[in-house]
Amino acid sequence: MSNKVYYKTEEEIEILRESCQLVGKTLAEVAKIIKPGVTTLELDKIAEEFIRDNGAVPGFKGYGGFPNTLCASPNDAVVHGIPNCKPLENGDIISLDCGVLKNGFYGDSAYTFKIGEVSEEIDKLLEVTKESLTFAIQNAIVGKRLGDIGYAVQHHAESNGYGVVRELIGHGLGRNLHEAPEVPNYGRRGKGMILKEGLVIAIEPMINLGVRNVEQLDDGWTIVTADRKPSAHFEHDVVVRKGKAEVLSTFEYIEEVLKNKN
Ligand code: MG
Ligand code: MG
Repeated sequence: MSNKVYYKTEEEIEILRESCQLVGKTLAEVAKIIKPGVTTLELDKIAEEFIRDNGAVPGFKGYGGFPNTLCASPNDAVVHGIPNCKPLENGDIISLDCGVLKNGFYGDSAYTFKIGEVSEEIDKLLEVTKESLTFAIQNAIVGKRLGDIGYAVQHHAESNGYGVVRELIGHGLGRNLHEAPEVPNYGRRGKGMILKEGLVIAIEPMINLGVRNVEQLDDGWTIVTADRKPSAHFEHDVVVRKGKAEVLSTFEYIEEVLKNKN
C-alpha cells in the first residue's frame, strides 16, 4: 500500500457514496435469507448477483487471490473467512464483509448478523462493538487525529472487558480498496495523523469476547481468535468533515430487513 493519502473531491465523494450504498443494499439482500440452515456460499451467490445486477463488480473477488464476493466469518472467525457449504446454526453470529467496485471507486462495509437466537453474552458483544464504531465515527472530524479514532474504539471495548484486535485495521478508501492511512482500532488521544476534510476512511472495529490475540487458519485467509471465543466486526465508510463526520455506507437497509423478519 502506498503511503500517499488521497483527499477526495466532492465529485469523487458522490461516486464513492454510490459504491458504499450499494454495499449496504447488497448486505440487505443477504439479510433477507440469512437464517439457520443457510450456507455462506448461498449468501455469497446472492451478493455477487446483486452487485453485478447493479452495474458493479465484487470488490474482494480476486483481490490478493480471495476467491469470493463476501468475507464470511462465523463465531470465532474475526475476518477474511471464505464462504463454504456448512449450514449456519441457531446461536451463531457471522460477520459478512462486502466490497464493491463501481465507477472506479470502492465501497467496503461489514455487519455481524445473529443467526436465530444468540446468548445474552454475544448480544452484548455485538452491541458494544457497534457502539465502539459509533464513537469512532464521532471522532472522524477535522482537527482530530487518527489516535482519537483508535482510542474511542479501544476505550469503549476494553472498558467492557473485551479484546481489541490489533493485527487488522481500518484503512483509507477510494480508487483502491486499501489506501493510506492505516486506521487502527487502538491508539492514544491526540496522537497520529491529523484529520483533514475529504479524507475517506473505512473504520472497522474487530472486537473479541476474550483475548485480543488472533491466528490465521491453514486456508491462508481466515483469521480466528486465539482462544476460539467469538468476535464481532462492524465497518462503515466515513468522510472526515468539519464538526460531524459523514457516513457514506449504511446499515439502514439491513436493519429494515432484520426488523421486519422479527
Ligand atoms: Mg470490509
Ligand atoms: Mg475494510
